[in-house]
Amino acid sequence: MAELLRKGKSFLICSHLNPDGDAIGSSLALAAFLEEEGKEVFLFNRDNVPPMYAFLTGASRVRQRLPEGQRFDATVLLDCATLERVGEELERFEGRGRMIIIDHHPPVDSPPGTVLIRTDAAATAELLYEVFRSYGAHISPRTATALYLGLMTDTGSFRFSNTTPKALSVAAALVEAGADHGLVTRRIYEEFPPERFRLLARVLDTLTFFHEGKVAAVTVTRRMLDSTGAGHELTEGFVDYPRSIRGVEVAVLFREVDEQQYRVSLRSRGRVDVGRIAQIFQGGGHPNAAGCTLWGDHSAVQEQVMSHLKEVLE
Ligand code: 5GP
Ligand code: MN
Repeated sequence: MAELLRKGKSFLICSHLNPDGDAIGSSLALAAFLEEEGKEVFLFNRDNVPPMYAFLTGASRVRQRLPEGQRFDATVLLDCATLERVGEELERFEGRGRMIIIDHHPPVDSPPGTVLIRTDAAATAELLYEVFRSYGAHISPRTATALYLGLMTDTGSFRFSNTTPKALSVAAALVEAGADHGLVTRRIYEEFPPERFRLLARVLDTLTFFHEGKVAAVTVTRRMLDSTGAGHELTEGFVDYPRSIRGVEVAVLFREVDEQQYRVSLRSRGRVDVGRIAQIFQGGGHPNAAGCTLWGDHSAVQEQVMSHLKEVLE
Protein backbone atom coordinates (compact mmCIF):
# COMPACT_ATOMS: atom_id res chain seq x y z
CA MET A 1 0.00 0.00 0.00
CA ALA A 2 2.72 2.41 1.00
CA GLU A 3 4.53 1.73 -2.30
CA LEU A 4 1.38 2.40 -4.33
CA LEU A 5 0.82 5.68 -2.51
CA ARG A 6 4.43 6.65 -3.06
CA LYS A 7 4.29 5.91 -6.80
CA GLY A 8 1.15 7.91 -7.60
CA LYS A 9 1.02 11.68 -8.10
CA SER A 10 -2.72 12.34 -8.21
CA PHE A 11 -5.31 10.60 -6.09
CA LEU A 12 -9.07 10.47 -5.97
CA ILE A 13 -10.11 9.73 -2.39
CA CYS A 14 -13.59 8.24 -1.87
CA SER A 15 -15.57 6.77 0.97
CA HIS A 16 -19.03 5.31 1.42
CA LEU A 17 -22.35 7.09 1.19
CA ASN A 18 -23.83 8.31 4.47
CA PRO A 19 -20.24 8.76 5.65
CA ASP A 20 -19.49 8.17 9.32
CA GLY A 21 -16.60 9.47 11.41
CA ASP A 22 -14.22 6.81 10.15
CA ALA A 23 -15.08 7.46 6.50
CA ILE A 24 -14.56 11.21 6.86
CA GLY A 25 -11.62 11.02 9.26
CA SER A 26 -9.78 8.50 7.09
CA SER A 27 -10.44 10.48 3.90
CA LEU A 28 -9.20 13.76 5.35
CA ALA A 29 -6.20 12.07 6.97
CA LEU A 30 -5.16 10.48 3.68
CA ALA A 31 -5.66 13.78 1.85
CA ALA A 32 -3.53 15.66 4.40
CA PHE A 33 -0.83 13.00 4.41
CA LEU A 34 -0.55 12.84 0.61
CA GLU A 35 -0.61 16.61 0.20
CA GLU A 36 2.17 16.98 2.70
CA GLU A 37 4.07 14.58 0.43
CA GLY A 38 3.51 16.96 -2.48
CA LYS A 39 0.77 14.97 -4.19
CA GLU A 40 -2.54 16.11 -5.61
CA VAL A 41 -5.78 14.90 -4.10
CA PHE A 42 -9.47 15.21 -4.87
CA LEU A 43 -11.94 14.33 -2.12
CA PHE A 44 -15.27 12.83 -3.12
CA ASN A 45 -18.32 11.73 -1.19
CA ARG A 46 -21.76 11.47 -2.68
CA ASP A 47 -23.30 12.69 0.58
CA ASN A 48 -22.56 15.74 2.71
CA VAL A 49 -20.01 15.69 5.49
CA PRO A 50 -22.12 15.41 8.69
CA PRO A 51 -21.91 18.76 10.56
CA MET A 52 -20.15 17.34 13.60
CA TYR A 53 -17.15 16.35 11.46
CA ALA A 54 -17.06 19.61 9.52
CA PHE A 55 -14.52 21.14 11.92
CA LEU A 56 -11.77 18.89 10.56
CA THR A 57 -9.30 20.66 8.31
CA GLY A 58 -10.20 19.95 4.70
CA ALA A 59 -13.83 18.96 5.36
CA SER A 60 -15.10 21.78 3.14
CA ARG A 61 -13.09 20.34 0.24
CA VAL A 62 -15.10 17.15 0.07
CA ARG A 63 -17.03 17.36 -3.21
CA GLN A 64 -20.36 15.76 -4.05
CA ARG A 65 -19.44 15.65 -7.75
CA LEU A 66 -16.60 13.94 -9.53
CA PRO A 67 -14.43 16.13 -11.76
CA GLU A 68 -15.63 15.38 -15.30
CA GLY A 69 -12.78 14.66 -17.68
CA GLN A 70 -10.04 14.56 -15.04
CA ARG A 71 -7.81 11.50 -14.75
CA PHE A 72 -6.14 10.26 -11.58
CA ASP A 73 -3.21 7.91 -11.11
CA ALA A 74 -5.24 6.09 -8.48
CA THR A 75 -8.55 6.02 -6.68
CA VAL A 76 -8.56 5.04 -3.03
CA LEU A 77 -11.73 3.61 -1.51
CA LEU A 78 -11.75 4.03 2.26
CA ASP A 79 -13.99 2.22 4.74
CA CYS A 80 -15.76 0.35 1.94
CA ALA A 81 -14.76 -2.15 -0.71
CA THR A 82 -17.18 -1.75 -3.62
CA LEU A 83 -17.86 0.98 -6.16
CA GLU A 84 -21.51 0.53 -5.31
CA ARG A 85 -21.00 1.71 -1.71
CA VAL A 86 -19.43 4.89 -3.07
CA GLY A 87 -22.33 5.59 -5.44
CA GLU A 88 -23.23 5.12 -9.10
CA GLU A 89 -21.26 8.17 -10.09
CA LEU A 90 -17.92 6.47 -9.46
CA GLU A 91 -19.00 3.38 -11.42
CA ARG A 92 -19.40 5.61 -14.50
CA PHE A 93 -16.31 7.73 -13.88
CA GLU A 94 -13.55 6.89 -16.35
CA GLY A 95 -10.62 8.71 -14.80
CA ARG A 96 -10.30 6.36 -11.82
CA GLY A 97 -6.85 4.94 -12.60
CA ARG A 98 -5.60 2.14 -10.40
CA MET A 99 -8.01 1.08 -7.66
CA ILE A 100 -6.80 0.88 -4.07
CA ILE A 101 -9.04 -0.35 -1.26
CA ILE A 102 -8.45 0.09 2.47
CA ASP A 103 -11.24 -1.26 4.63
CA HIS A 104 -12.11 -3.21 7.76
CA HIS A 105 -15.53 -4.60 6.80
CA PRO A 106 -15.92 -8.27 5.92
CA PRO A 107 -15.95 -8.24 2.10
CA VAL A 108 -19.13 -9.33 0.37
CA ASP A 109 -18.00 -9.35 -3.28
CA SER A 110 -14.47 -9.66 -4.59
CA PRO A 111 -13.05 -6.15 -4.34
CA PRO A 112 -12.19 -4.33 -7.60
CA GLY A 113 -8.53 -3.50 -7.00
CA THR A 114 -5.51 -3.84 -4.75
CA VAL A 115 -6.72 -4.36 -1.22
CA LEU A 116 -5.77 -3.93 2.38
CA ILE A 117 -8.75 -5.42 4.20
CA ARG A 118 -8.37 -6.39 7.84
CA THR A 119 -11.57 -7.20 9.68
CA ASP A 120 -9.68 -7.26 12.99
CA ALA A 121 -8.85 -3.56 12.63
CA ALA A 122 -11.11 -1.38 14.78
CA ALA A 123 -11.32 1.28 12.09
CA THR A 124 -10.05 2.09 8.62
CA ALA A 125 -8.17 4.89 10.39
CA GLU A 126 -6.21 2.27 12.34
CA LEU A 127 -5.15 0.60 9.07
CA LEU A 128 -4.22 3.92 7.50
CA TYR A 129 -2.00 4.70 10.47
CA GLU A 130 -0.09 1.49 9.73
CA VAL A 131 0.15 2.39 6.04
CA PHE A 132 1.55 5.83 6.93
CA ARG A 133 4.09 4.20 9.25
CA SER A 134 5.23 1.90 6.45
CA TYR A 135 5.44 4.83 4.07
CA GLY A 136 7.76 6.42 6.60
CA ALA A 137 6.81 10.08 6.22
CA HIS A 138 5.95 12.42 9.09
CA ILE A 139 2.41 12.18 10.51
CA SER A 140 1.32 15.76 11.15
CA PRO A 141 -1.07 16.85 13.94
CA ARG A 142 -3.69 17.49 11.25
CA THR A 143 -3.39 13.95 9.90
CA ALA A 144 -3.28 12.51 13.42
CA THR A 145 -6.43 14.40 14.51
CA ALA A 146 -8.42 13.10 11.53
CA LEU A 147 -7.24 9.52 12.14
CA TYR A 148 -8.01 9.83 15.84
CA LEU A 149 -11.55 10.94 15.05
CA GLY A 150 -12.09 7.88 12.85
CA LEU A 151 -10.74 5.49 15.45
CA MET A 152 -12.62 7.12 18.30
CA THR A 153 -15.99 7.15 16.55
CA ASP A 154 -15.74 3.58 15.21
CA THR A 155 -14.96 2.23 18.69
CA GLY A 156 -17.75 4.28 20.30
CA SER A 157 -15.10 6.20 22.25
CA PHE A 158 -13.18 3.03 23.00
CA ARG A 159 -16.19 1.24 24.49
CA PHE A 160 -17.12 -1.34 21.82
CA SER A 161 -15.61 -4.81 21.61
CA ASN A 162 -13.37 -3.74 18.70
CA THR A 163 -11.32 -1.71 21.22
CA THR A 164 -8.30 -3.97 21.04
CA PRO A 165 -4.86 -3.35 22.57
CA LYS A 166 -3.84 -2.40 19.03
CA ALA A 167 -6.61 0.21 18.73
CA LEU A 168 -5.60 1.73 22.06
CA SER A 169 -1.93 1.79 21.17
CA VAL A 170 -2.62 3.43 17.81
CA ALA A 171 -4.78 6.00 19.64
CA ALA A 172 -1.91 6.70 22.03
CA ALA A 173 0.53 7.07 19.12
CA LEU A 174 -1.86 9.49 17.40
CA VAL A 175 -2.15 11.65 20.52
CA GLU A 176 1.62 11.58 20.72
CA ALA A 177 1.78 12.73 17.08
CA GLY A 178 -0.36 15.73 18.01
CA ALA A 179 -3.96 14.58 17.61
CA ASP A 180 -6.15 17.08 19.43
CA HIS A 181 -8.35 14.61 21.33
CA GLY A 182 -9.91 17.32 23.48
CA LEU A 183 -11.13 19.14 20.39
CA VAL A 184 -12.46 15.93 18.83
CA THR A 185 -14.46 14.87 21.90
CA ARG A 186 -15.83 18.39 22.43
CA ARG A 187 -16.98 18.73 18.84
CA ILE A 188 -18.53 15.29 18.69
CA TYR A 189 -20.09 14.85 22.11
CA GLU A 190 -20.55 18.31 23.58
CA GLU A 191 -21.81 20.52 20.80
CA PHE A 192 -25.13 18.94 19.88
CA PRO A 193 -27.77 21.30 18.52
CA PRO A 194 -30.93 21.51 20.71
CA GLU A 195 -33.05 19.97 17.92
CA ARG A 196 -31.26 16.69 18.48
CA PHE A 197 -32.72 16.46 21.97
CA ARG A 198 -36.21 17.42 20.86
CA LEU A 199 -35.97 14.63 18.33
CA LEU A 200 -34.43 12.19 20.80
CA ALA A 201 -37.33 12.72 23.22
CA ARG A 202 -39.77 11.71 20.49
CA VAL A 203 -37.67 8.78 19.35
CA LEU A 204 -37.20 7.33 22.85
CA ASP A 205 -40.97 7.34 23.16
CA THR A 206 -41.06 4.70 20.39
CA LEU A 207 -38.85 2.27 22.33
CA THR A 208 -40.23 -1.25 21.92
CA PHE A 209 -38.92 -4.59 23.16
CA PHE A 210 -39.08 -7.90 21.31
CA HIS A 211 -38.07 -11.49 21.99
CA GLU A 212 -38.10 -11.40 25.80
CA GLY A 213 -36.25 -8.10 25.94
CA LYS A 214 -33.28 -9.36 23.93
CA VAL A 215 -34.12 -6.93 21.13
CA ALA A 216 -34.97 -3.26 21.55
CA ALA A 217 -35.99 -0.96 18.71
CA VAL A 218 -36.62 2.73 18.18
CA THR A 219 -38.08 4.52 15.18
CA VAL A 220 -37.47 7.88 13.54
CA THR A 221 -40.20 9.07 11.21
CA ARG A 222 -40.04 11.87 8.65
CA ARG A 223 -42.76 13.59 10.66
CA MET A 224 -40.55 13.66 13.73
CA LEU A 225 -37.74 15.18 11.70
CA ASP A 226 -40.08 17.80 10.22
CA SER A 227 -41.72 18.78 13.47
CA THR A 228 -38.47 19.09 15.41
CA GLY A 229 -36.49 20.71 12.60
CA ALA A 230 -33.77 18.10 12.97
CA GLY A 231 -31.90 16.69 9.97
CA HIS A 232 -31.49 12.92 9.72
CA GLU A 233 -27.76 13.24 10.43
CA LEU A 234 -28.70 14.15 14.00
CA THR A 235 -29.93 10.57 14.53
CA GLU A 236 -26.32 9.36 14.55
CA GLY A 237 -25.81 7.53 17.85
CA PHE A 238 -29.52 7.10 18.63
CA VAL A 239 -29.24 3.33 18.20
CA ASP A 240 -26.82 3.35 21.13
CA TYR A 241 -29.70 4.09 23.53
CA PRO A 242 -31.57 0.80 23.02
CA ARG A 243 -28.15 -0.87 22.82
CA SER A 244 -27.30 0.30 26.32
CA ILE A 245 -30.29 -1.36 28.05
CA ARG A 246 -29.63 -4.27 30.39
CA GLY A 247 -30.39 -7.62 28.75
CA VAL A 248 -30.55 -6.23 25.21
CA GLU A 249 -28.50 -8.23 22.73
CA VAL A 250 -29.58 -6.51 19.53
CA ALA A 251 -30.61 -2.88 19.08
CA VAL A 252 -32.42 -1.66 15.99
CA LEU A 253 -33.14 1.79 14.67
CA PHE A 254 -35.71 2.21 11.91
CA ARG A 255 -35.44 5.49 10.07
CA GLU A 256 -38.12 6.39 7.58
CA VAL A 257 -36.36 7.88 4.56
CA ASP A 258 -39.25 7.95 2.13
CA GLU A 259 -42.77 6.66 1.61
CA GLN A 260 -42.49 2.92 2.35
CA GLN A 261 -38.71 3.02 2.71
CA TYR A 262 -36.69 2.52 5.91
CA ARG A 263 -32.99 2.60 6.71
CA VAL A 264 -32.30 0.02 9.34
CA SER A 265 -29.32 0.25 11.71
CA LEU A 266 -28.44 -2.86 13.66
CA ARG A 267 -26.16 -3.20 16.68
CA SER A 268 -25.25 -6.37 18.51
CA ARG A 269 -23.59 -6.83 21.86
CA GLY A 270 -23.27 -10.54 21.88
CA ARG A 271 -23.50 -13.63 19.80
CA VAL A 272 -25.76 -12.30 17.04
CA ASP A 273 -23.93 -11.39 13.83
CA VAL A 274 -25.99 -8.45 12.60
CA GLY A 275 -23.78 -8.10 9.51
CA ARG A 276 -25.33 -11.35 8.27
CA ILE A 277 -28.83 -10.13 8.99
CA ALA A 278 -28.12 -6.93 7.03
CA GLN A 279 -26.76 -9.01 4.14
CA ILE A 280 -30.06 -10.86 3.85
CA PHE A 281 -31.52 -7.47 2.90
CA GLN A 282 -28.65 -6.52 0.55
CA GLY A 283 -26.97 -4.37 3.19
CA GLY A 284 -23.83 -5.15 5.13
CA GLY A 285 -21.47 -4.19 7.89
CA HIS A 286 -19.68 -5.81 10.80
CA PRO A 287 -20.87 -8.57 13.17
CA ASN A 288 -21.61 -5.86 15.74
CA ALA A 289 -22.74 -2.93 13.60
CA ALA A 290 -24.54 -3.13 10.29
CA GLY A 291 -27.19 -1.50 8.16
CA CYS A 292 -29.60 -2.10 5.30
CA THR A 293 -32.60 -0.60 3.54
CA LEU A 294 -36.07 -2.17 3.55
CA TRP A 295 -39.22 -1.30 1.61
CA GLY A 296 -42.72 -1.44 3.03
CA ASP A 297 -44.69 0.17 5.81
CA HIS A 298 -43.28 0.35 9.31
CA SER A 299 -44.99 -2.72 10.70
CA ALA A 300 -44.05 -4.87 7.68
CA VAL A 301 -40.41 -3.78 7.81
CA GLN A 302 -40.25 -4.33 11.55
CA GLU A 303 -41.85 -7.75 11.21
CA GLN A 304 -39.26 -8.83 8.62
CA VAL A 305 -36.30 -7.78 10.74
CA MET A 306 -37.75 -9.26 13.93
CA SER A 307 -38.52 -12.61 12.37
CA HIS A 308 -34.90 -12.99 11.20
CA LEU A 309 -33.69 -11.94 14.63
CA LYS A 310 -36.00 -14.46 16.29
CA GLU A 311 -34.40 -17.24 14.29
CA VAL A 312 -30.84 -16.36 15.27
CA LEU A 313 -31.69 -15.72 18.90
CA GLU A 314 -33.20 -19.17 19.33
P1 5GP B 1 -25.01 2.50 10.36
O1 5GP B 1 -26.05 1.73 11.10
O2 5GP B 1 -24.22 3.38 11.28
O3 5GP B 1 -25.54 3.20 9.15
O4 5GP B 1 -23.97 1.44 9.80
C1 5GP B 1 -23.31 0.51 10.63
C2 5GP B 1 -22.23 -0.22 9.87
O5 5GP B 1 -22.79 -0.96 8.81
C3 5GP B 1 -21.20 0.69 9.23
O6 5GP B 1 -19.95 0.07 9.42
C4 5GP B 1 -21.57 0.75 7.79
O7 5GP B 1 -20.45 0.90 6.99
C5 5GP B 1 -22.27 -0.58 7.55
N1 5GP B 1 -23.42 -0.41 6.65
C6 5GP B 1 -24.54 0.32 6.90
N2 5GP B 1 -25.40 0.27 5.87
C7 5GP B 1 -24.84 -0.54 4.94
C8 5GP B 1 -25.25 -1.00 3.63
O8 5GP B 1 -26.32 -0.68 3.12
N3 5GP B 1 -24.36 -1.80 2.98
C9 5GP B 1 -23.17 -2.19 3.52
N4 5GP B 1 -22.36 -2.98 2.82
N5 5GP B 1 -22.76 -1.78 4.74
C10 5GP B 1 -23.57 -0.97 5.45
MN1 MN C 1 -15.12 2.14 9.74
